[in-house]
Amino acid sequence: MSALERIRERMREHGLDALLVSDVGAVSWLTGFTGSSGFALVTPTEARFVTDSRYTLQAKEEVREMPSATYASPTEPADFLAAQAREMRIDRLGFDSETVSHSTWTKWQERFRPIELVPAPNLIGDLRMVKSEAEIEKIRRSCALADAAYDHVLRLIRPGVSEYDIGLDLEFFIRRQGADLAFAPIVVSGERSARPHGRASEKKLESGDFLTLDFGAMLDGYASDITRTVVVGRATDRQEAVYNQVLKAQLAALDMMRPGVRGRDVDAMARTVLDEMDLAQYFGHGLGHGLGRLVHDMGRLSATSEVVLEPGQVWTVEPGVYIADFGGVRIEDDVVVTDDGIEILTKSPKKFTVIGASE
Ligand code: ZN
Ligand code: ZN
Repeated sequence: MSALERIRERMREHGLDALLVSDVGAVSWLTGFTGSSGFALVTPTEARFVTDSRYTLQAKEEVREMPSATYASPTEPADFLAAQAREMRIDRLGFDSETVSHSTWTKWQERFRPIELVPAPNLIGDLRMVKSEAEIEKIRRSCALADAAYDHVLRLIRPGVSEYDIGLDLEFFIRRQGADLAFAPIVVSGERSARPHGRASEKKLESGDFLTLDFGAMLDGYASDITRTVVVGRATDRQEAVYNQVLKAQLAALDMMRPGVRGRDVDAMARTVLDEMDLAQYFGHGLGHGLGRLVHDMGRLSATSEVVLEPGQVWTVEPGVYIADFGGVRIEDDVVVTDDGIEILTKSPKKFTVIGASE
């Protein structure tokens, strides 16, 4: 069933005659469009993609299942959208009340008159969590590219090299393969590794540093997201013990993932294992997030997650421990839920590793 057929089915279930899709991730899922701004209007018999003139040609290439309409300055997007909706003879139009801001809604209400705007739940959100075989194949290739980039950058790691150089090398490798970065690579070493989302800096690697690399590719519209932590030069017993406990937590979480398992229970499993070494207190973020057209796609694996695992969902699994004045360890893989378990899409080695030892 196509994305358009699936959303129409959900609209029927919710008694909606027309839907305005405005969230960029949802629009991308529904239409295949990879630009940064666009909308879709969907009724039971018609659908239209709306974007601005910067994207006229791109829309022609990417959006196959519905006609595109584009506007140019000085036309206001809201006025153009409203005109399209009137042309489609829409009387009541659902909008995603979870992602449309109050100010946008106020403006739309005025411009869309006499069409009535009705708040609708985030219908595409749940649908987006389950990927098609074609989508999974794209994510698989994006993950393979991230693995290749990691393998490539390993040879650069030694004392004296700056975090910045490592970040640039990752970026160059990924772009050279015709992909984009999924996000600015996180490259943190030594005490800076205790910052879960630190950017690369001028700091040079020193012997004894933890080095955490978190990066991903955006290939053919789909993201990968991988984290590996290694020790530079020489490691202490405590570094090895903390690393191995984070790895044990990740492996235990991965091991329990299969259809029917609750996201919050997977998150809890990782915390339970970390607490064997009293480390859960240093694990401040959720265990994972959905992955797809966006790096942080729909869905979370966290203590409050309502998610139940289903075949076709793609998740990151990324326990981390961040201890001030000591450093941090995070290990992140991307997985797809299968009929009876998971397939791990990122395959870079994650055994405790010390790199760049000087004799
Ligand atoms: Zn990541
Ligand atoms: Zn992630």
